[in-house]
Amino acid sequence: MTEHGLVVARYRRHGLIEDDGGDRIVCQFISRSLQPVVGDQVQWRAEPDGKGMVTAVLPRKSTLTRIDNRGNPEVVAANLSQLVVVLAPSPAPDWFLLDRYLGAAALTGLKSVIVFNKLDLDHSPPGALADYGDLTDSICLTSAKQKTGLTELAGCMVAERSVMIGQSGVGKSSLINALLGDARQAVNELSAKSGRGRHTTTTAVLYGLPGGGELIDSPGVRDYAPYIADPREVEHGFKEFGQFSNDCRFNDCRHLAEPECAVKAAVAAGKITARRYESFKTLLELSESLQEKRR
Ligand code: GDP
Ligand code: ZN
Repeated sequence: MTEHGLVVARYRRHGLIEDDGGDRIVCQFISRSLQPVVGDQVQWRAEPDGKGMVTAVLPRKSTLTRIDNRGNPEVVAANLSQLVVVLAPSPAPDWFLLDRYLGAAALTGLKSVIVFNKLDLDHSPPGALADYGDLTDSICLTSAKQKTGLTELAGCMVAERSVMIGQSGVGKSSLINALLGDARQAVNELSAKSGRGRHTTTTAVLYGLPGGGELIDSPGVRDYAPYIADPREVEHGFKEFGQFSNDCRFNDCRHLAEPECAVKAAVAAGKITARRYESFKTLLELSESLQEKRR
Protein backbone atom coordinates (compact mmCIF):
# COMPACT_ATOMS: atom_id res chain seq x y z
CA MET A 1 0.00 0.00 0.00
CA THR A 2 1.40 3.38 -0.93
CA GLU A 3 0.94 6.65 0.92
CA HIS A 4 1.26 10.26 -0.06
CA GLY A 5 4.12 12.47 1.14
CA LEU A 6 6.05 15.71 0.68
CA VAL A 7 9.84 15.76 0.27
CA VAL A 8 11.10 18.12 3.02
CA ALA A 9 14.81 17.35 2.79
CA ARG A 10 17.04 15.83 0.20
CA TYR A 11 20.44 14.24 0.78
CA ARG A 12 22.70 12.65 -1.78
CA ARG A 13 21.08 9.21 -1.70
CA HIS A 14 17.94 9.55 0.37
CA GLY A 15 15.19 11.94 1.32
CA LEU A 16 13.14 12.96 4.31
CA ILE A 17 9.41 12.69 3.63
CA GLU A 18 6.59 14.26 5.60
CA ASP A 19 3.43 12.17 5.48
CA ASP A 20 -0.09 13.59 5.54
CA GLY A 21 -0.17 13.30 9.34
CA GLY A 22 2.99 15.42 9.71
CA ASP A 23 5.32 12.52 10.62
CA ARG A 24 8.77 12.41 9.03
CA ILE A 25 10.28 9.28 7.53
CA VAL A 26 13.67 8.63 5.97
CA CYS A 27 13.12 7.28 2.46
CA GLN A 28 15.15 5.71 -0.27
CA PHE A 29 14.26 5.87 -3.95
CA ILE A 30 13.11 2.82 -5.85
CA SER A 31 15.35 3.43 -8.87
CA ARG A 32 18.31 5.53 -9.92
CA SER A 33 16.22 7.41 -12.45
CA LEU A 34 13.71 8.45 -9.78
CA GLN A 35 15.20 11.61 -8.29
CA PRO A 36 12.70 13.46 -6.10
CA VAL A 37 13.66 17.02 -5.14
CA VAL A 38 12.57 19.16 -2.20
CA GLY A 39 8.96 20.26 -2.67
CA ASP A 40 8.00 17.16 -4.60
CA GLN A 41 4.74 15.36 -3.85
CA VAL A 42 5.49 11.63 -3.86
CA GLN A 43 4.04 8.15 -3.42
CA TRP A 44 5.89 6.01 -0.90
CA ARG A 45 5.47 2.79 1.06
CA ALA A 46 6.73 1.64 4.44
CA GLU A 47 9.50 -0.97 4.34
CA PRO A 48 10.09 -3.68 6.97
CA ASP A 49 13.20 -1.88 8.29
CA GLY A 50 11.05 1.10 9.35
CA LYS A 51 12.28 3.29 6.53
CA GLY A 52 10.31 4.26 3.47
CA MET A 53 10.63 3.67 -0.25
CA VAL A 54 9.60 6.39 -2.70
CA THR A 55 7.94 4.74 -5.68
CA ALA A 56 6.72 7.71 -7.74
CA VAL A 57 6.97 11.49 -8.06
CA LEU A 58 3.67 13.23 -8.80
CA PRO A 59 3.53 15.78 -11.64
CA ARG A 60 5.31 19.05 -10.77
CA LYS A 61 3.44 22.37 -10.94
CA SER A 62 6.66 24.34 -11.16
CA THR A 63 10.37 23.62 -11.08
CA LEU A 64 13.55 25.53 -10.49
CA THR A 65 16.04 24.31 -13.05
CA ARG A 66 19.66 25.32 -13.16
CA ILE A 67 22.51 24.52 -15.52
CA ASP A 68 25.11 22.16 -14.10
CA ASN A 69 28.86 22.32 -14.88
CA ARG A 70 28.42 20.38 -18.08
CA GLY A 71 25.66 22.64 -19.41
CA ASN A 72 22.86 20.20 -18.60
CA PRO A 73 19.61 21.20 -16.92
CA GLU A 74 19.14 19.99 -13.35
CA VAL A 75 15.93 20.38 -11.34
CA VAL A 76 16.79 21.71 -7.88
CA ALA A 77 13.34 22.31 -6.32
CA ALA A 78 9.71 21.67 -7.22
CA ASN A 79 6.30 23.18 -6.60
CA LEU A 80 7.58 26.53 -5.40
CA SER A 81 5.63 29.75 -5.89
CA GLN A 82 8.10 32.57 -5.32
CA LEU A 83 11.71 33.64 -5.76
CA VAL A 84 13.15 35.96 -3.11
CA VAL A 85 16.19 37.67 -4.62
CA VAL A 86 18.57 39.23 -2.11
CA LEU A 87 20.82 42.21 -2.93
CA ALA A 88 23.06 44.33 -0.69
CA PRO A 89 25.34 47.37 -0.90
CA SER A 90 28.22 44.94 -0.50
CA PRO A 91 28.96 42.86 -2.49
CA ALA A 92 27.75 45.41 -5.05
CA PRO A 93 24.54 44.41 -6.85
CA ASP A 94 24.96 42.48 -10.08
CA TRP A 95 21.97 43.87 -11.98
CA PHE A 96 22.37 41.39 -14.81
CA LEU A 97 22.04 38.55 -12.31
CA LEU A 98 18.90 40.21 -10.90
CA ASP A 99 17.42 40.45 -14.42
CA ARG A 100 18.26 36.82 -14.98
CA TYR A 101 16.47 35.79 -11.78
CA LEU A 102 13.42 37.93 -12.52
CA GLY A 103 13.36 36.55 -16.06
CA ALA A 104 13.37 33.01 -14.72
CA ALA A 105 10.57 33.87 -12.28
CA ALA A 106 8.42 35.39 -15.04
CA LEU A 107 8.99 32.43 -17.37
CA THR A 108 8.22 29.86 -14.69
CA GLY A 109 5.15 31.74 -13.49
CA LEU A 110 6.65 32.45 -10.08
CA LYS A 111 6.12 35.56 -8.00
CA SER A 112 9.23 37.53 -7.06
CA VAL A 113 10.39 39.66 -4.15
CA ILE A 114 13.53 41.80 -4.21
CA VAL A 115 15.19 42.21 -0.81
CA PHE A 116 17.78 44.94 -0.34
CA ASN A 117 19.67 43.82 2.78
CA LYS A 118 22.40 45.44 4.93
CA LEU A 119 20.44 48.67 4.97
CA ASP A 120 22.47 49.53 8.09
CA LEU A 121 25.55 50.01 5.85
CA ASP A 122 23.88 52.22 3.32
CA HIS A 123 20.76 53.95 4.50
CA SER A 124 19.30 54.56 1.08
CA PRO A 125 18.89 51.83 -1.53
CA PRO A 126 20.55 52.41 -4.93
CA GLY A 127 18.61 54.45 -7.50
CA ALA A 128 18.58 51.54 -9.97
CA LEU A 129 16.24 49.70 -7.59
CA ALA A 130 13.50 52.21 -8.41
CA ASP A 131 13.37 50.80 -11.98
CA TYR A 132 12.15 47.49 -10.55
CA GLY A 133 8.95 48.65 -8.87
CA ASP A 134 6.79 47.40 -11.76
CA LEU A 135 8.93 44.35 -12.49
CA THR A 136 8.52 42.50 -9.19
CA ASP A 137 5.71 41.78 -6.71
CA SER A 138 7.39 43.47 -3.71
CA ILE A 139 10.58 45.21 -2.68
CA CYS A 140 11.69 44.82 0.97
CA LEU A 141 14.43 46.80 2.68
CA THR A 142 16.08 44.84 5.50
CA SER A 143 18.98 44.62 7.87
CA ALA A 144 19.53 41.09 9.16
CA LYS A 145 22.08 42.60 11.53
CA GLN A 146 19.78 45.20 13.10
CA LYS A 147 16.68 43.00 12.62
CA THR A 148 14.78 45.64 10.65
CA GLY A 149 12.34 45.02 7.81
CA LEU A 150 11.98 41.36 8.78
CA THR A 151 8.26 41.59 9.58
CA GLU A 152 7.62 43.02 6.11
CA LEU A 153 9.73 40.28 4.52
CA ALA A 154 7.95 37.55 6.51
CA GLY A 155 4.66 39.14 5.38
CA CYS A 156 5.67 38.68 1.73
CA MET A 157 6.36 35.00 2.37
CA VAL A 158 3.07 34.02 4.05
CA ALA A 159 1.08 31.59 1.88
CA GLU A 160 4.01 31.14 -0.52
CA ARG A 161 6.67 28.50 -0.95
CA SER A 162 9.76 30.62 -1.48
CA VAL A 163 13.34 30.08 -2.48
CA MET A 164 15.96 32.64 -1.43
CA ILE A 165 18.69 33.36 -3.95
CA GLY A 166 21.40 35.94 -4.58
CA GLN A 167 25.13 36.50 -4.73
CA SER A 168 27.31 35.02 -2.04
CA GLY A 169 27.79 37.37 0.93
CA VAL A 170 24.61 39.45 0.57
CA GLY A 171 23.20 37.96 3.79
CA LYS A 172 20.92 35.10 2.75
CA SER A 173 21.97 32.79 5.59
CA SER A 174 21.64 35.64 8.08
CA LEU A 175 18.14 36.46 6.83
CA ILE A 176 17.11 32.80 6.85
CA ASN A 177 18.35 32.40 10.42
CA ALA A 178 16.50 35.54 11.48
CA LEU A 179 13.28 34.39 9.78
CA LEU A 180 13.35 30.82 11.02
CA GLY A 181 14.44 31.18 14.62
CA ASP A 182 14.55 27.68 16.12
CA ALA A 183 12.81 25.92 13.24
CA ARG A 184 16.05 25.42 11.36
CA GLN A 185 17.82 23.80 14.28
CA ALA A 186 15.02 21.26 14.75
CA VAL A 187 15.25 20.00 11.17
CA ASN A 188 19.02 19.80 11.29
CA GLU A 189 18.89 17.69 14.46
CA LEU A 190 16.39 15.32 12.88
CA SER A 191 18.55 15.05 9.78
CA ALA A 192 21.60 14.20 11.86
CA LYS A 193 19.70 11.45 13.71
CA SER A 194 18.36 9.90 10.52
CA GLY A 195 21.59 9.81 8.61
CA ARG A 196 24.78 7.87 8.40
CA GLY A 197 28.11 9.63 7.98
CA ARG A 198 29.00 11.39 4.77
CA HIS A 199 25.79 10.45 2.99
CA THR A 200 23.93 12.89 5.18
CA THR A 201 25.23 15.97 3.37
CA THR A 202 22.09 18.00 2.92
CA THR A 203 21.40 19.13 -0.59
CA ALA A 204 18.16 20.99 0.22
CA VAL A 205 15.67 21.49 3.06
CA LEU A 206 12.12 22.83 3.18
CA TYR A 207 11.31 24.81 6.33
CA GLY A 208 7.98 25.99 7.68
CA LEU A 209 8.14 29.70 8.54
CA PRO A 210 6.86 30.69 12.01
CA GLY A 211 4.44 33.26 10.54
CA GLY A 212 3.23 31.02 7.71
CA GLY A 213 4.59 29.99 4.36
CA GLU A 214 7.55 27.78 3.55
CA LEU A 215 11.16 28.38 2.61
CA ILE A 216 13.38 26.06 0.59
CA ASP A 217 17.04 26.42 1.44
CA SER A 218 19.77 24.77 -0.55
CA PRO A 219 23.40 25.57 -1.31
CA GLY A 220 22.73 24.39 -4.88
CA VAL A 221 19.86 26.83 -5.17
CA ARG A 222 21.61 29.78 -3.60
CA ASP A 223 24.09 30.15 -6.45
CA TYR A 224 21.54 28.96 -8.92
CA ALA A 225 21.83 30.01 -12.57
CA PRO A 226 18.43 29.87 -14.23
CA TYR A 227 18.08 27.94 -17.41
CA ILE A 228 16.08 29.09 -20.42
CA ALA A 229 15.88 26.25 -22.92
CA ASP A 230 14.32 28.15 -25.82
CA PRO A 231 15.96 31.44 -26.88
CA ARG A 232 12.60 32.65 -28.23
CA GLU A 233 11.32 32.53 -24.65
CA VAL A 234 13.90 34.97 -23.32
CA GLU A 235 11.90 38.12 -24.17
CA HIS A 236 8.97 36.82 -22.08
CA GLY A 237 11.29 37.01 -19.08
CA PHE A 238 11.34 40.79 -19.56
CA LYS A 239 7.86 41.88 -18.50
CA GLU A 240 8.05 45.44 -19.84
CA PHE A 241 8.99 44.28 -23.38
CA GLY A 242 5.56 42.72 -23.91
CA GLN A 243 3.68 45.98 -24.48
CA PHE A 244 6.08 46.92 -27.31
CA SER A 245 7.06 43.67 -29.05
CA ASN A 246 3.66 43.32 -30.79
CA ASP A 247 4.47 46.49 -32.73
CA CYS A 248 7.72 45.20 -34.22
CA ARG A 249 7.59 44.99 -38.01
CA PHE A 250 8.49 41.31 -38.03
CA ASN A 251 6.50 38.76 -36.08
CA ASP A 252 9.64 36.83 -35.25
CA CYS A 253 11.67 39.96 -34.41
CA ARG A 254 14.57 39.11 -32.08
CA HIS A 255 14.92 42.81 -31.17
CA LEU A 256 18.57 42.84 -32.26
CA ALA A 257 19.46 44.08 -35.79
CA GLU A 258 15.93 43.97 -37.28
CA PRO A 259 14.52 47.17 -38.82
CA GLU A 260 11.48 48.86 -37.27
CA CYS A 261 11.87 47.10 -33.95
CA ALA A 262 9.46 48.59 -31.41
CA VAL A 263 11.49 47.26 -28.49
CA LYS A 264 14.65 49.04 -29.66
CA ALA A 265 12.55 52.18 -30.29
CA ALA A 266 11.29 51.95 -26.69
CA VAL A 267 14.91 51.69 -25.48
CA ALA A 268 15.84 54.78 -27.55
CA ALA A 269 12.85 56.64 -26.10
CA GLY A 270 13.83 55.69 -22.55
CA LYS A 271 10.69 53.59 -22.00
CA ILE A 272 12.84 50.49 -21.49
CA THR A 273 16.11 51.07 -19.63
CA ALA A 274 19.29 50.49 -21.64
CA ARG A 275 20.54 48.23 -18.87
CA ARG A 276 17.52 45.93 -19.03
CA TYR A 277 17.98 45.74 -22.80
CA GLU A 278 21.67 44.80 -22.32
CA SER A 279 20.60 42.05 -19.88
CA PHE A 280 18.12 40.79 -22.45
CA LYS A 281 20.84 40.54 -25.13
CA THR A 282 23.27 38.79 -22.78
CA LEU A 283 20.64 36.28 -21.69
CA LEU A 284 19.60 35.66 -25.30
CA GLU A 285 23.22 34.93 -26.27
CA LEU A 286 23.58 32.59 -23.33
CA SER A 287 20.40 30.73 -24.19
CA GLU A 288 21.47 30.43 -27.85
CA SER A 289 24.91 29.12 -26.93
CA LEU A 290 23.35 26.48 -24.69
CA GLN A 291 21.05 25.47 -27.52
CA GLU A 292 24.11 25.11 -29.79
CA LYS A 293 25.80 22.86 -27.20
CA ARG A 294 22.80 20.55 -27.07
CA ARG A 295 22.78 20.04 -30.86
P1 GDP B 1 25.14 34.66 2.27
O1 GDP B 1 26.43 34.23 1.62
O2 GDP B 1 24.29 35.40 1.29
O3 GDP B 1 24.41 33.56 2.93
O4 GDP B 1 25.52 35.75 3.37
P2 GDP B 1 25.72 35.60 4.95
O5 GDP B 1 24.41 35.54 5.65
O6 GDP B 1 26.70 34.51 5.20
O7 GDP B 1 26.37 37.01 5.29
C1 GDP B 1 27.59 37.44 4.72
C2 GDP B 1 28.21 38.48 5.66
O8 GDP B 1 27.38 39.64 5.72
C3 GDP B 1 28.36 37.99 7.09
O9 GDP B 1 29.57 38.49 7.60
C4 GDP B 1 27.17 38.61 7.80
O10 GDP B 1 27.41 38.82 9.17
C5 GDP B 1 27.02 39.92 7.06
N1 GDP B 1 25.63 40.42 7.09
C6 GDP B 1 24.50 39.74 6.83
N2 GDP B 1 23.41 40.55 6.94
C7 GDP B 1 23.88 41.77 7.28
C8 GDP B 1 23.26 43.05 7.53
O11 GDP B 1 22.04 43.22 7.47
N3 GDP B 1 24.10 44.08 7.81
C9 GDP B 1 25.45 43.95 7.89
N4 GDP B 1 26.18 45.01 8.17
N5 GDP B 1 26.06 42.76 7.66
C10 GDP B 1 25.30 41.69 7.36
ZN1 ZN C 1 11.69 43.88 -32.13
